[in-house]
Amino acid sequence: MQNQLLSKVPSVDKVLRDEGCQRLLERHGLKLVTSVIRTTLATIRSNLAGTATELPDMQGVITLVAEGLNSQLEASLLPVFNLTGTVLHTNLGRAGLPAEALNAIITTAAGASNLEFDLATGDRGDRDNHIEALLCELTGAESATVVNNNAAAVLLVLNTLALNQEVPVSRGELVEIGGSFRVPDIMARAGCRLVEVGTTNRTHRKDYSNAISDKTALLMKVHTSNYAIKGFTTSVADTELAEIARQHQIPFVTDLGSGTLIDLRKFELPFEPTAGETIENGADLVTFSGDKLLGGPQAGIIAGRQDLIARIKANPMKRALRVDKMTISALYEVLKLYLDPDRLTERLPTLRLLTRTVEEIDALAARVHPAVVAAVGAIAEVSIVDCQSQIGSGSLPLDLLASKAIGLRPAAKKGDGVALERMSNAFRSLPIPVIGRINAGSLIFDLRCLEDEEGFTGQLSELKTADVL
Ligand SMILES: *Cc1c(COP(=O)(O)O)cnc(C)c1O
Repeated sequence: MQNQLLSKVPSVDKVLRDEGCQRLLERHGLKLVTSVIRTTLATIRSNLAGTATELPDMQGVITLVAEGLNSQLEASLLPVFNLTGTVLHTNLGRAGLPAEALNAIITTAAGASNLEFDLATGDRGDRDNHIEALLCELTGAESATVVNNNAAAVLLVLNTLALNQEVPVSRGELVEIGGSFRVPDIMARAGCRLVEVGTTNRTHRKDYSNAISDKTALLMKVHTSNYAIKGFTTSVADTELAEIARQHQIPFVTDLGSGTLIDLRKFELPFEPTAGETIENGADLVTFSGDKLLGGPQAGIIAGRQDLIARIKANPMKRALRVDKMTISALYEVLKLYLDPDRLTERLPTLRLLTRTVEEIDALAARVHPAVVAAVGAIAEVSIVDCQSQIGSGSLPLDLLASKAIGLRPAAKKGDGVALERMSNAFRSLPIPVIGRINAGSLIFDLRCLEDEEGFTGQLSELKTADVL
């Protein structure tokens, strides 16, 4: 019986010649359609060799081919609603860019630009030239350069200034950031030897002094980013580390991690040392991310002493870690916004979201609540609840921002966990996936980062909640 069916599976040619296939050929071309027909027919054959007892007719085959084409052409990287409550969420792409930066990317990416071309002389130029002056103005540094991300910045600094030499770092600062950035590993890959100083909770001035030998290349301080050591603690101030480094005629380098260009207390946000004051306190170089608190594109910024930056730029690794023209044009526009700090919270999405007041978020919650009730009221209890947002990306790990969320508690028959998982899966399956978090038996959508209200409520009618209860 199945053998008989197997012999009736149409040939690739026959499917291609079918009337119903012509529309697919016009849209997708011969090569792709032929390949999808092949895999579709192979699946049909293997199903028949297994448990399948029916052969789809030609119409059915064409439908399967159309579905195969759609799933093959569906983009994998999609915009989502980040309602996790973590503003700078590394897994969700960190900072969103302001309109100025998006427009600059489009203009620059479309064609040729003077990326490495000096328009005044007609000679070869340096891609850093487009942003260096602005970076220097905003940080007080003599010189600056930009690479792919902050991990690359740290790697490049160490490889340039400390190859085959020693770098003392406090045991309290041997951080791991989000999986793969671990200070000891980066040191090893940069070709230098980590010398651990002090203890996890206390590192003193003399610990550094004792660790310095004629093999020491530089002193390094690493922002602890995603954790804090509390209680009986001591660390050595930047100004003192700078002094020790100066006495031994070695550079003092600070990895700021998130890094910020302005005092965030101005916006009633928690304190974070700025790149400018770190340099003023004696750091010879600072490194920080472009897409954390700065609110720009993925990039790693290195700013500080001109002679050190010149050596870094001359390292062949700089070529391997360089940023492209889209990043440079976007970063330039974001940095430009910092020249007018008074308007920054309106214009820079990251700061706009971080400074949203709880009253504003509460009003937003009241506006979207009815649409969520209409969509899931039958399967869950929907309420507006207090919650706390995090800044994220290792920025200010202990500081939480008061916020409001829509909380969904399943009217579960299935056991809470299963119903919650299915409900969050339904929201993740929407055309613009909605990502929340599960907390104490509820699915929580922190509304701090919701700006496109209509985009959010408009798609809720498409929620597939049939299997939740
Ligand atoms: C985030 C972070 C990094 C890595 O920065 P990326 O831009 O993600 O590469 C390095 N050091 C510290 C202290 C950080 O917080």
